[in-house]
Amino acid sequence: MSPIRIGGIEKFSIVDFPNKMASVVFMQGCPWKCPFCHNVQLQDVNAETNIVWHKFIDFLNTRKGILDAVVFSGGEPLVQKGLIDAIKDVKALRFEVGLHTGGYRPEFFSEVIEFVDWVGFDIKAPLEEDRYKIVTGGVGDVEKVKESLNILIESGKSFECRTTCDPRFLDIEDLYKIADTLKGLGVKEYYLQKYRKVESDVNASEEKSLSLVENDELNQYLSDCFEVFDVRK
Ligand code: SF4
Repeated sequence: MSPIRIGGIEKFSIVDFPNKMASVVFMQGCPWKCPFCHNVQLQDVNAETNIVWHKFIDFLNTRKGILDAVVFSGGEPLVQKGLIDAIKDVKALRFEVGLHTGGYRPEFFSEVIEFVDWVGFDIKAPLEEDRYKIVTGGVGDVEKVKESLNILIESGKSFECRTTCDPRFLDIEDLYKIADTLKGLGVKEYYLQKYRKVESDVNASEEKSLSLVENDELNQYLSDCFEVFDVRK
């Protein structure tokens, strides 16, 4: 039986796990409703999918020596309990494992983390209750996000934090605030990501996002805060 429900696969990616050639598994299901989500079709964990896990494992078997890693993305991979078995299948083939998460479920994240080699952790807003509620469509619990981030930091695993700069929900002051919080927690690697327009957004928000990610003063500040900082456009 398939351990997980998969909404999509990207067979080759060089941007989802630093310095690795990876396959990306887009897992079905996400409890959040971020207004800038580009994977809305992945939100419903019960949606029809036709990707079979063992066929992906067959594919991985043919890519030994070509691929370095498999990244579990979403959706929110922590939704599905079968994630751990899926990771073990991948590890048995000696691929590294990456995980993209917003950290919504710390109790499960604390079980998963030992099997993971690298984590891309989304910081969607300043770590404050009201702000997180807004950027997650009213459902995100910032206390859980903070708990997950602490688990990640204490795990000693390699990770990055990143923020998508949707100017409808974030301004420059928010980005300074996020940086100060993350620096205070000891985060070493941080990225600003340009927002890409979603269909429901009728304003010129994509263009405005550039004014956030291309702000020289902010970028200098972030470079000083973190050992590694960069902008992704
Ligand atoms: S956490 Fe990711 S997948 Fe879930 S709604 Fe937000 S952007 Fe979409």
